[in-house]
Amino acid sequence: MTPKELDYFKDLLEQTREELSADLSQLKEEAKPVSPDKGLGRLTRQEALLAQNIAKDAIEARERRLVAIAGALGRVKDGKYGICLECEEEIALQRLKASPEAVFCISCARARS
Ligand SMILES: [Zn+2]
Repeated sequence: MTPKELDYFKDLLEQTREELSADLSQLKEEAKPVSPDKGLGRLTRQEALLAQNIAKDAIEARERRLVAIAGALGRVKDGKYGICLECEEEIALQRLKASPEAVFCISCARARS
C-alpha cells in the first residue's frame, strides 16, 4: 500500500468512526426505557418496545465496529494496516474500501466463516 492509500484509509476510518458515534447517540435516545404507563406518540407500547430492541441491536453492532475501527487505527500507527492477520498478505483495496476495519484478506475471511 502506498503512503497516499494509507492516508486515504486512515481518513476513511476516522470518518466512519465519527459517523458511527453520531449514530450511536441517536440510537441511545431510541433505546431509552419505554415508560410503562403510556405509548410514545403514535406508537403503541409494543411497537415502542420493538423499536427499542432494534435500537439496542443496532447499538451493539456499531459498538463492535467502533472497537474494530480503533484496532485498525492502531495498526495504521504500527505500520501493519491492510496486512491480513492470518496469511500476512496485503488485503485487497476494494475490500478495505467496503470495510476499512477488515483484518483478514477475503480468502482467509472466507476460510474462517
Ligand atoms: Zn489472508
